[in-house]
Amino acid sequence: MSGHRQPPEAPLTDLTAFIAALPKAELHVHHVGSASPRIVAELAARHPDTSVPKDPEALAEYFVFRDFAHFIELYISVVDLIREAEDIRLLTYEVARDLARQQVRYAELTVTPHTSVKRGIPDVAFMEAIEDARTAAERDFGVVLRWCFDIPGELGLPAAEETARMACELRPEGLVSFGLGGPEIGWPRPQFKPYFDRAIAEGLHSVPHAGETTGPETVRDALTALRAERIGHGISAARDPELMALLAERGIPLEVCPTSNVATRAVSSLAEHPLPALVAAGVTVTVNTDDPPMFGTDLNNEYAVAARLLGLDAAGVAALAKNAVAASFLDGTGKARLNEEIDAHLAAWPG
Ligand SMILES: [Zn+2]
Repeated sequence: MSGHRQPPEAPLTDLTAFIAALPKAELHVHHVGSASPRIVAELAARHPDTSVPKDPEALAEYFVFRDFAHFIELYISVVDLIREAEDIRLLTYEVARDLARQQVRYAELTVTPHTSVKRGIPDVAFMEAIEDARTAAERDFGVVLRWCFDIPGELGLPAAEETARMACELRPEGLVSFGLGGPEIGWPRPQFKPYFDRAIAEGLHSVPHAGETTGPETVRDALTALRAERIGHGISAARDPELMALLAERGIPLEVCPTSNVATRAVSSLAEHPLPALVAAGVTVTVNTDDPPMFGTDLNNEYAVAARLLGLDAAGVAALAKNAVAASFLDGTGKARLNEEIDAHLAAWPG
């Protein structure tokens, strides 16, 4: 994006309304991590033995972000509610409804099939459930969903093997990319190379998490060993000018999730977030949510945060939204259509 700046004292209220109605693409959002209190209540109703609060007020309170340990507790309790293919279908369809409400037109959802399959949902039933939800969501809400299958890195190479097998052998129609999540410390990226090689050979795009909680060397590993085309987070690249120059030169976009970075303490505060440094170095950045309801955010809020950090006006925010379109794995026609929608929204905006 280029320098559309506004004075820091300018009110954000108008910009908030602009963002809320802006057509957007979301590139880094986890499937289970997108379960809102409304969705969790529906899942809990299907499984009454859960420890998740059922009373709406208590459930809303349960979702107030306290710290990272509480996030993990919340995440695990939602994982526990996903026991059957029907739970997967419901979760996916309802996540799409929440995305549509924020004017998200296209989302690449990070899905971790291994977690559900390990818990007893047959892999074929899992694929049918997400595909069924994808088709229904596009028809009912106008949201185009695509999948990034990610390796839960903390489960090691057997999980990588299983994820690659499901991606390559069961390949659902909506699958576009292959990813790697979980902790970075203690799980160096290069060991996952054979699984990325296999996925890339099958035509999938490489989109690993890297440089969220470890340094720039992890981002370099993701580029060289895993042949990353886009990086999940990648924010520690800001500590390495040469790496930023390389990312800029090769046009490798970063999926930046500001609120998540503060919530997980990867960054100590929004004021210290490296987003402005990355932009200043010419790195292509996109703004995303990670696990929005669990971190008390949504995509509109992340755009507002980015606008504040970068001093953007409406045109600058629209340019940021177009970065996500360009960095997406949407086809050319889809990209052109979404860009036209963004341009039309900007043109219709007073002032
Ligand atoms: Zn993530």
